[in-house]
Amino acid sequence: MSVRRWGRDHRQLRAALVAGALAVLTLAAGCGRGAAAADARWSEPLAAASSDASTSPAAPSPTPSPSAAKPSASANAGAVLTGPLNLAAVSGKVIAIDPGHNDGNFAHPDEINKQVPMGTGTKECDTTGTQTNGGYHEAAFTFDVANRLAALLRAAGANVVMTRTDDNSVGPCVNVRAQIGNDAHAAVAISIHADGAPSTGHGFHVMEPMKVGAPSDAIITQSNQLALLIRDNYRARTGIPASNYIGTNGINPRSDMGGLNLSTVPKVLLECGNMRNAGDAAMETNPTDRQKMAEGIAAGLAAYLAAAG
Ligand SMILES: [Zn+2]
Repeated sequence: MSVRRWGRDHRQLRAALVAGALAVLTLAAGCGRGAAAADARWSEPLAAASSDASTSPAAPSPTPSPSAAKPSASANAGAVLTGPLNLAAVSGKVIAIDPGHNDGNFAHPDEINKQVPMGTGTKECDTTGTQTNGGYHEAAFTFDVANRLAALLRAAGANVVMTRTDDNSVGPCVNVRAQIGNDAHAAVAISIHADGAPSTGHGFHVMEPMKVGAPSDAIITQSNQLALLIRDNYRARTGIPASNYIGTNGINPRSDMGGLNLSTVPKVLLECGNMRNAGDAAMETNPTDRQKMAEGIAAGLAAYLAAAG
């Protein structure tokens, strides 16, 4: 836990202390946040994606004048960002999907608070995740989006491995979530979450692993490419802008995420939006929008696999 997380969640923490339920409620206040974004360390190799740094909702790109057209500007390896969903590249591929948290975590603080390996030390097994002001839990959200994503990928011929197949048990712990993708020799893996930041923050961000002397050192470059393609396709399919409160243009390199540090297969963690923001929450509680989120993730995974060959 970092200063930033504790500062952000100060009011929730005070409430938890008053309620005498410190363990569970402090966990409920956040979602995988903590380390300050190492924005200065992130550079974006895809030139085409650097022109959309605004936090306004995704707007159609201005049509370049013929004289300004740059045939090579589309650096996303042929990624199709809009139009019919083309998931041909996922056929025959093993894809690991990790729906964050588990609604059973709320009732088992001792189990989810135990320390587990996280690549550079230890941290809590898992957390409860956050929720909307209306009470829609992050664990339920991630499980729904993950199942929508799995259905899309399976229909396109992918071999999908899920880190959990119910929303009423405990965990698994973050190290086990990584191990499931590793053991499956997944071609690509993704964790699905939603954030619990202050209500003024909105938009999505993609966490990617930083090189920290952990097993993920071997997949840093691939995971960065995956992060960029998930970002671009998710934004295009959902209209949700990149976060206005964390990361740089939707990308947030992290050193403290066990599920990323321990991955030996290309992996990112998507925070689909901020559940404490009214606009984001309205989409997260809407099944039609959750389907768009799943489609955006699927398109990003397909674009990555198409480029990876
Ligand atoms: Zn989360």
